[in-house]
Amino acid sequence: MLMSERIRAIKPSPTLAINAKAVSMRQAGVDVISFGVGEPDFDTPRHIRQAAVRAIEEGFTRYTAVGGIPELKEAIIEKLRCDQNLSYEREEVMVSCGGKHVLYNLAQATLNPNDEVIIPAPYWVSYPPIVILAGASPVIVETREAEDFKLSPDALEEAITARTRLLILNSPSNPTGSVYSQQELERLAEVVLRHDISVVSDEIYDKLIFDGKPFRSIAQVSEELKGKVFVVNGVSKTYAMTGWRIGYVAGAREVIAGMTKIQSQSTSNPNSIAQKAAIAALTGPQDSVGNMVRAFDERRKYLVGRLNAMPGIHCNMPAGAFYAFPDFSHCFKIDQDGRDMKGSGSLCDYLLTEARVALVPGIAFGADDFVRFSYATSLEAIREGVDRIEEALQRLVSSA
Ligand SMILES: *Cc1c(COP(=O)(O)O)cnc(C)c1O
Repeated sequence: MLMSERIRAIKPSPTLAINAKAVSMRQAGVDVISFGVGEPDFDTPRHIRQAAVRAIEEGFTRYTAVGGIPELKEAIIEKLRCDQNLSYEREEVMVSCGGKHVLYNLAQATLNPNDEVIIPAPYWVSYPPIVILAGASPVIVETREAEDFKLSPDALEEAITARTRLLILNSPSNPTGSVYSQQELERLAEVVLRHDISVVSDEIYDKLIFDGKPFRSIAQVSEELKGKVFVVNGVSKTYAMTGWRIGYVAGAREVIAGMTKIQSQSTSNPNSIAQKAAIAALTGPQDSVGNMVRAFDERRKYLVGRLNAMPGIHCNMPAGAFYAFPDFSHCFKIDQDGRDMKGSGSLCDYLLTEARVALVPGIAFGADDFVRFSYATSLEAIREGVDRIEEALQRLVSSA
């Protein structure tokens, strides 16, 4: 068959099976409640949509500079200056077709065969395949729920070898919602500097943080460290713009030049209209972000409260993003009708069939004891979904 070795080396996402089943259940008329979505359930704010309409009407519909138009790069530079107190030149900034595309270009521009990339687990599903598609090897480092799923300096130190090139950090985290503090980043930074590796800091959820906690980028630790960090961000999550496909990176200019070269030979520029919309997002009124955070905050407290009230289930309070990541391993021991209920995949399968609730199994994120809930859905749907889960789990227990 006509198929590259690279394609053989990556597996289809384990979430696909559950999603496909949820879709076919819906098509059959079953009212499935989904906690599976990885995107805000809000509309893109009006002023951003209007900027896109204006771009179309004004004929801003042609190829642009490969790495993004200068006005957008300036808006990104200003964002990083205002929010993170980080300063960059235009040659140190680049725009791609979403944060995921940034990560892909970055891996392609920096990695060689046999290189290693340290990825703390639970991790975002796309990190390992992106590394593998660049010919390098992901090195997965486990973290503990009791340590709020944060990578410790000792665990980092232990995972570093002569082949280590990059460490990928994601704060606030998808799937755990954990947020690193300044002090925790400083301690990791010491190890990073001692071993001369670089850091990919995925900051896509930087504005979605609760309880007035500040967001800190590891690039802020010191000027020396900033030179080793690639700050990755985008408009998808903060401005409910997942379909627009605009992400960006700031970092060392040689690598940015390499990434631009790859982009010039693959996708060319990100969508011209979406670039104009992204300028409006970054420079326009920010009140939509606050409203969204308030809604997520209310849902977060309700959902996590309900989860922790279930027997045997434990869930840390997420500090950011819009996910909760409870430990459901207590339910794995229980079998019903000879069904294999060991692991997050079969539990999620059971809950989809029996409770009509779609969840993402933790195994997709490298943590099989857990299940990911996205609370980017209405409070009413959350209430109904949790009721159903509770009822289905009770049935499991009572029939065992
Ligand atoms: C959603 C997401 C991204 C990127 O999303 P894009 O839509 O490609 O910008 C990157 N990292 C994490 C952890 C995400 O959850």
